[in-house]
Amino acid sequence: NTRVLTGITTSGTPHLGNYVGAIRPAVAASRRDDVDAFYFMADYHALIKSDDAGRIERSRLEIAATWLAAGLDPARVTFYRQSDIPEIPELTWFLTCIASKGMLNRAHAYKAAVDKNTAAGEDVDAGVTAGLYMYPVLMAADILAFDANQVPVGRDQIQHIEMARDLGQRFNHLHGHEFFVLPEALIEEQVATLPGLDGRKMSKSYDNTIPLFAGGKKQLREAIMRIVTDSRLPGEPKDPDDCALFTIFRAFASDAETAAFRQALLDGIGWGEAKQVLYERIETDVAPMRERYEALMADPSAIETILQQGAQKARAIATPKLAALREVLGLRAMT
Ligand code: ATP
Repeated sequence: NTRVLTGITTSGTPHLGNYVGAIRPAVAASRRDDVDAFYFMADYHALIKSDDAGRIERSRLEIAATWLAAGLDPARVTFYRQSDIPEIPELTWFLTCIASKGMLNRAHAYKAAVDKNTAAGEDVDAGVTAGLYMYPVLMAADILAFDANQVPVGRDQIQHIEMARDLGQRFNHLHGHEFFVLPEALIEEQVATLPGLDGRKMSKSYDNTIPLFAGGKKQLREAIMRIVTDSRLPGEPKDPDDCALFTIFRAFASDAETAAFRQALLDGIGWGEAKQVLYERIETDVAPMRERYEALMADPSAIETILQQGAQKARAIATPKLAALREVLGLRAMT
């Protein structure tokens, strides 16, 4: 079977982009008989971006409840919280010791920070923590600890998967053995990247998101009404191919519904009315999941039990893996 692994950073409230880009395809993949799915709440990654403990905890609960409400069956997958797996930070250190600093200098997340500082005339590393710098190594440990074959990612993450491969390969080469499975990025071409309220990629860190469940249908509608549009009036044709509403609509609708919405835009439907159509389409899909979500959020201890069981399943793989690695690295217990 193919091992597929993916995580969501617990840095905020799950949004439509997380659902369309990660959760919906991952839940579909987990139902396949030829796939063993490993899905986790990336709370160590969240510490890179946030020191707000309450936010991280709330986000973790919301994300776990979202996966389950979207139809994830914890009996079929290994569903866990990253911070329940001590083997991950342990492996991170082993990989850190073979990661070249030059490779990490080229990592996108770090380079973006450097470019921003340079443009602002500041010290290149101003505000950059070692955590941000090391983030690709932590991500490599997430993947290599479980011998994952495939990691579904957006294009911006391909480089990090290559770094995980690179680290796995270097370790295998140094220690003369196939210790690590080398992972591949799985780019799902048909999965859309949703724009946020301001037209940039919808992202928790840009604060431009449309929450999937939080706040109920009232907040979903209000957020959709706030999506930025151009100043074309009702009656004036709108360009579907340059329109956040259309991109989001298409991610939820059938081909026939999409064609009808495209025509409505070309025919000059007003933005207010178009937003109402979008809201109703999304609400049709979201309403039954939201009911399950609210029931799950009302009982955090049931989620905790599921995560504890997931951690046991995950550690049943990671613990012997790390024991074997300690052995080859010369970290044996004295007899
Ligand atoms: P952050 O800003 O903290 O990085 P994020 O909201 O961008 O958060 P992540 O937690 O980094 O989301 O990503 C979780 C998953 O959701 C990833 O697989 C990512 O590709 C997917 N995803 C995030 N934003 C979008 C989006 N706008 N459209 C489609 N998929 C998305």
